[in-house]
Amino acid sequence: MDRIGIMGGTFNPVHMGHLMLAEAAREALSLDEVWFVPTGYSYMKGVGKSSENMPLPEERLEMTGLAVQDNTCFRCVDIEVRRGGATYTYETLEELRENYPEKKFFFLIGADCLYTIENWREPGRIFDACELVAAVRQGASADAMQEKIAQLKARFGARITLLPFRNLEISSTEIRACVREGRSIRYMTPRSVISYIEEKGFYRE
Ligand code: ATP
Ligand code: MG
Repeated sequence: MDRIGIMGGTFNPVHMGHLMLAEAAREALSLDEVWFVPTGYSYMKGVGKSSENMPLPEERLEMTGLAVQDNTCFRCVDIEVRRGGATYTYETLEELRENYPEKKFFFLIGADCLYTIENWREPGRIFDACELVAAVRQGASADAMQEKIAQLKARFGARITLLPFRNLEISSTEIRACVREGRSIRYMTPRSVISYIEEKGFYRE
């Protein structure tokens, strides 16, 4: 049975934090592959409309594909971008389960999402469809997190694993701000992604 990590995100743009988290999870959980799933229109972030110099969902998909193309264990899938409209994680996970009944899915998230996931659409169906893997900062006080996990287990029967992860302070927000201010984003994201951003003129004022 294949063990597949699902790395969901807006990926606006994808960066080394996403890639290193995926790699750490692949190694720690002996995953066969990690699939990156860029969101379509994101109801939480309002991304998807073609606002000025912002990539379209198709372009975020292409950027993410460029970032993972040199890793045979990583794939970028268009399941949410193709669906169009608002994208909900539970729909994606249920669709994957239906299409690949022989695979076991692990949904990878940063610690921040552990605290918000309850407020996502149909959290019970998210927990039914996958095992959750939450990346925690190494050495961080795990108490609050364990309490949250216990709560989610009691309420939803959630299966949640903590993944010790480095503290890598990098975000898409920071990358967009750097581009806007004309500062370097070298080494924050793969070279192929930087070239694509430059070529398309994303995030500039
Ligand atoms: P933004 O700044 O626009 O919010 P982001 O960098 O947080 O973007 P997202 O696409 O929102 O990226 O995140 C997708 C997933 O990656 C989430 O589960 C998030 O917790 C995780 N993630 C993002 N940045 C990091 C990081 N530096 N280290 C570990 N996990 C991360
Ligand atoms: Mg974020």
